[in-house]
Amino acid sequence: MHCLWVFVLLENIRVVLVNTSHPGNIGGAARAMKNMGLSQLVLVDPQDFPSAEAVARASGAADILDSARVVGTLEEALVGCRLVLGTSARDRHIPWPMLEPRECGVAACEQAQQGAQVALVFGREYAGLTNEELQRCHFHVHIPSDPAFSSLNLAAAVQVLAYEVRMAWLAAEELPLRPEVVVEQDDEPVTADELESFYAHLEQALIEIKFLDPVRPRRLMSRLRRLYGRSSVSKLEMNILRGILTETIKAARGQHQKQEKVDV
Ligand code: SAH
Repeated sequence: MHCLWVFVLLENIRVVLVNTSHPGNIGGAARAMKNMGLSQLVLVDPQDFPSAEAVARASGAADILDSARVVGTLEEALVGCRLVLGTSARDRHIPWPMLEPRECGVAACEQAQQGAQVALVFGREYAGLTNEELQRCHFHVHIPSDPAFSSLNLAAAVQVLAYEVRMAWLAAEELPLRPEVVVEQDDEPVTADELESFYAHLEQALIEIKFLDPVRPRRLMSRLRRLYGRSSVSKLEMNILRGILTETIKAARGQHQKQEKVDV
């Protein structure tokens, strides 16, 4: 017997395809998703969509294409997401927290069960995701393919991860109904878009206090993204950090009023 949360769970997991060039791959991804019970498809700046080729490759999954959301930037695609998992066929310069596909399925289901929105992000056929895009993700997921020929077809990569999500979902379905996790609003972890505006604020403060040289930024922001990305900062903690940044910027600009002496 399905419980309500089990139904809702898969709807909280979206598949994000970035700048796809072949519409056939979008159709193939839609089919792979529907086979595994996923329905939320977000397309970031697709090169050719809508398209008859996508519908043909989707087979019976054209409904996923019809309800797909098309957006201009990855940032828009990730609004509201508490967990962002980025896929990559290659190793990158900055080692990032990694998950195996199996762990990725479990983590996605666990978060989705708690009501959080989760994104699985896939890159371009020819160039994958940029380092900047990968750094917007909490974790990287690599399908352990043969290193001599590591890059899967985009729709095939979607199939592998959608399958892992389904396996985790089926395992969760067997468990007795878990008590609903009540999270105070302030204790909720921040979403990807909230983290992005924090990074912009942090960068501005670091420039103002001359810790970061915008001409030679090196990898400072990447390293800080990695640090905060793995800290599951709550909304309350984020407010504290933002408050510290606001005051730091004021201090750097000499805008702090002298504290009035208060007689107690
Ligand atoms: N030439 C690109 C490959 C892109 S394949 C590159 O070297 O990065 C298109 C997309 O499929 C990738 O961006 C990724 O989202 C997914 N993908 C392909 N192979 C993968 C693998 N082994 N592990 C994880 N994702 C993979």
